Amino acid sequence: MSIRVILFDLDETLVDTVKSSLTATRRALDYLSPRIPEIDSGTVADQLVKEYMKIWEAADKTRPHPFDSAEELRIHFCRQAFEKVDIRDHSVADEAGKLVSQWSRENHALFPEAEEVLRTLGRSYRLGVVSNGFSEIQREKIEATGLDRFIEEFWISSDLGVEKPDPRVFDRAIEHFGVPPNEMAYVGDNPHKDVPAAQGAGLMAIWYDHGTRTPSQDHTPDHTITNLRELLAIFSEKR
Ligand SMILES: [Mg+2]
Repeated sequence: MSIRVILFDLDETLVDTVKSSLTATRRALDYLSPRIPEIDSGTVADQLVKEYMKIWEAADKTRPHPFDSAEELRIHFCRQAFEKVDIRDHSVADEAGKLVSQWSRENHALFPEAEEVLRTLGRSYRLGVVSNGFSEIQREKIEATGLDRFIEEFWISSDLGVEKPDPRVFDRAIEHFGVPPNEMAYVGDNPHKDVPAAQGAGLMAIWYDHGTRTPSQDHTPDHTITNLRELLAIFSEKR
């Protein structure tokens, strides 16, 4: 079997999303702290950040979000996170949402080695992205990081109406590239979503292990990497 197409997950595989979200959220809380006595203690700030990230992770991304803008969506998630830590002043949560929105946009960044790896792989393979997320937010990251210089096509779950671990998330990509699934590979950081989705669709699954997620007991990846550069050894240059 020879691989002709390599697909990537977006968040935490190509884009360092946790870092940019954490930076933006912490900066917003620091900025607002004079107005929120409760967050003077670092514990509440930590808890808030954790709740906010959890809300993102749990959101159903099989549909477009029902808000007018990405900022409105972030404000809504901030309100929920603030309520979880018993801060019910909506004006503070709303301002936090605006700041997080602005600073997230400014901080989107690829992992340092991503550009070189994509450029090299792009010489011998066709490249795509299949991501769980809200289209507007994911496209904001794609634009900010210039990923469209390297990637032929992007598929986002809120446009597709289906998300990983459902293998049908790959249907459109398989159709687009027109090659059998066993000639395609998928690289993702989530062993519980990315690996079963890829293998369920018949793709080779590569787990990008950051050391922060427990391995899946049920799904063994075909390869495990701890840095994107290791892909260059798995997929050698063809020409
Ligand atoms: Mg991911």
